Amino acid sequence: MPILVKELKQLSNRSFSILWSDDRFSVFTLSELQKNCPCAGCQESKGVCEEDVKALKISSVGNYALRIDFTKGCSRGIFTFQFLRTIHLERL
Ligand SMILES: [Zn+2]
Repeated sequence: MPILVKELKQLSNRSFSILWSDDRFSVFTLSELQKNCPCAGCQESKGVCEEDVKALKISSVGNYALRIDFTKGCSRGIFTFQFLRTIHLERL
């Protein structure tokens, strides 16, 4: 069973929450996600940490991922729900 997102809510311009299909709840900060940007460029350079990064826009890609337009730094990463879920589990 793939994990799906029941509800995505923007909490502030620096964080958002996801309610998962199994009723678990996660809060993500945008700086945390940008640090984990999965695009090839960031994976190579390990990116620059922008602690006060905000989102201009969060849009969904199909029904499996999110694309985030950050105010600065890299916005090329596609964050799949599976990937977000992995970050969530690592913090438990
Ligand atoms: Zn990137």
